[in-house]
Amino acid sequence: MAAKSSGYLRCPMCDAEVPLEGDEKQGSEIFCPFCQTPLSFKVGRDEEAFFEEDF
Ligand SMILES: [Zn+2]
Repeated sequence: MAAKSSGYLRCPMCDAEVPLEGDEKQGSEIFCPFCQTPLSFKVGRDEEAFFEEDF
């Protein structure tokens, strides 16, 4: 498991840096604190974490 699951990830909607709590996992839902978009936490093939809009 990659150790880079804490820190920040960029919101795909407003491009702001959204702070992570560090215990997010595949499919975790959080709300962007800036644009309030529901985001789904995803981990890609290269264990690269990112957010995807989840309306
Ligand atoms: Zn946002």
